[in-house]
Amino acid sequence: MKRLLFCLVLAALPSLGGERQASIAPIALFTQFQEEPSAAIREALQSELETIMNPVGLHFDWRSLNDGDNTATELVVVTFKGRCDVRGMQPLTVMPGALGWTHVSDGLVLPFSEVDCSAVRDFLQRQLLVRSPAEREELYGRALGRVLAHELYHVLASTASHGACGVAKSGYTVSDLLAPDFMFQAAELRTLLQSKVHQVLELAAAIATTAP
Ligand SMILES: [Zn+2]
Repeated sequence: MKRLLFCLVLAALPSLGGERQASIAPIALFTQFQEEPSAAIREALQSELETIMNPVGLHFDWRSLNDGDNTATELVVVTFKGRCDVRGMQPLTVMPGALGWTHVSDGLVLPFSEVDCSAVRDFLQRQLLVRSPAEREELYGRALGRVLAHELYHVLASTASHGACGVAKSGYTVSDLLAPDFMFQAAELRTLLQSKVHQVLELAAAIATTAP
């Protein structure tokens, strides 16, 4: 039986976090790309992640896994797999399997996520082809940012569960990935705000500002 699920999109979440504007330490994102993306794709990817995580005050310090410096309060390692560009797309509808995943061991969510750039490419190519080349890169990078935000939700909220709607829902449509706005819903934002990671990052920021 087909079940319709209605998702209410909230325009604003003024009550979230209330007056609390605690400063919070950044999360180190150690990334590894099988194929380096263009500057435009990388920029769209990073800026979408900031936009999605902004309501909970989470921000990220992007580092390369090859940099050597791996000191951080909280860190997540992300591998971007496959082809990460918009060249040579075909007007085909390909239904890929998973677009991203996060490692779980004995029921414990580990800080290791993967985003399948090729799968996202295959899934969106038909719709991206009708856009201008510049727009294609921006929309593709933004879609990668949404898949990444979903995986980071699992890591940061330390949960394998999904939300009913928004960034934390279990399966994405092409429209979800290409819509002008796609955000977490209130329940998942609350989960992130109340997560242990959030408390640790607040504490780290407090210690950093009071240190001599
Ligand atoms: Zn998921």
